[in-house]
Amino acid sequence: MANEKKVPFLVIGGGIGGLATALGVAETGREVHLIEKAKEFGEVGAGLQLGPNALAVLDRLGVLESVYANAVIPKRLVLMDAMNGQELTALDLGEEFRNRYKYPYIVLHRSDLHQSLLDACRANPLITLYTNKEVNVVENEGDQARVTCADGSVFIANAVVGADGVRSKTRQLVSNDQPVSSHYVAYRGTIPMAEVKAHLDFDDVIMWIGPNLHLVQYPVRRGELFNQVAVFKSARSLAGEEEWGTPEELDEAFSKCCETVKHAASYMNRDFNWPMYDRDPIANWTSGRVTLLGDAGHAMLQYLAQGGVQALEDVACLTNMLHTHGLDIEIAFQEYQEERIPRSASVQTNARQWGEIIHADDPISILLRNTLFAQHDANDFRYVDWLYGRRYTMIQNQS
Ligand SMILES: Cc1cc2nc3c(=O)[nH]c(=O)nc-3n(C[C@H](O)[C@H](O)[C@H](O)COP(=O)(O)OP(=O)(O)OC[C@H]3O[C@@H](n4cnc5c(N)ncnc54)[C@H](O)[C@@H]3O)c2cc1C
Repeated sequence: MANEKKVPFLVIGGGIGGLATALGVAETGREVHLIEKAKEFGEVGAGLQLGPNALAVLDRLGVLESVYANAVIPKRLVLMDAMNGQELTALDLGEEFRNRYKYPYIVLHRSDLHQSLLDACRANPLITLYTNKEVNVVENEGDQARVTCADGSVFIANAVVGADGVRSKTRQLVSNDQPVSSHYVAYRGTIPMAEVKAHLDFDDVIMWIGPNLHLVQYPVRRGELFNQVAVFKSARSLAGEEEWGTPEELDEAFSKCCETVKHAASYMNRDFNWPMYDRDPIANWTSGRVTLLGDAGHAMLQYLAQGGVQALEDVACLTNMLHTHGLDIEIAFQEYQEERIPRSASVQTNARQWGEIIHADDPISILLRNTLFAQHDANDFRYVDWLYGRRYTMIQNQS
């Protein structure tokens, strides 16, 4: 048919996960096509934190140098009390951290990471990119998959990876579950550094925590911009109201905080907000020639700063499986999910639990938490080894 296109490998979604997947698939020598629903490639939102487990993957994909060019390497991850302004605990990101995990912890503007991946895809002759292609239906058809777009075009592919985000259409092939509301909402944005210099500290990633709210601050784009994310639980959402997470609720939530936090929250752009949804882990991502990656498979709350990082870990694992199993896509997809589902599910559930801890609102929990935090040594990495220490050793073509 005239509007049907046969391709060997198709990626749905041109976010961080999808673009990185295209690079991983191309590394195995395959031709890969990527379709994105937006008119142009791009990222909305502001900053992104990337742990060393993400940088190992970016290194493998050949984009690490360009990512470093726009990033900032912070000195510490710091937890502050949003109510009284006291430091609660910190994790040192200096030499010991770097020696332990082989890569640093970085912060950057998410559009800078996206641009690095996009440039690498555009420079790769095995990768073809399309915009303005919104996928409506994904289905298996014998030993191929059929992907139908809203404009009537159809892709017939030997293999499909759905990297189409938290509201993934691809996921409908394997599950009828829905995104889960956390009742929290985020306001986020960047401000030129010159506008804030007088008030704040720029060497650290700072998370101010308080009952049912938090505020994150760090520099991005070589230190030229200051990124802030203000997050709170919406009473209107809990009450079942349709309109929730409003600027009035933002002001009300942060009005109880210490002056520094109140002042910082007053900078937030009120034009947009992001209601926070995640997904429950599911036991299967794969149907025949189709599998899931990134938020499509394991959307998580952002509290451990791992959603994008886990998408990159997915890419490293999937690429290894494609190297190992060659043309046997179904086995490659099965082994990929066997490895990735338990790992990403544990990050998803831990992110929810960490949210409960940082947002604790009863005095006993807060006292116990703060007492434990105070005993933590900044160079004690035992509690983060499971996150940052995970590596996918690079496997090259074995088929
Ligand atoms: C406030 C906040 C802070 C965060 N901070 C961090 C952090 O510090 N570190 C971190 O690692 N992660 C963080 N995350 C999570 C991270 O942003 C996501 O996990 C990551 O962007 C997921 O990438 P993805 O490519 O899987 O999905 P997405 O970024 O959602 O990309 C999906 C792409 O698919 C396209 N698409 C969707 N549907 C279709 C369709 N039907 N047809 C074609 N294309 C389609 C979309 O347009 C989009 O381009 C944060 C998230 C939030 C909300």
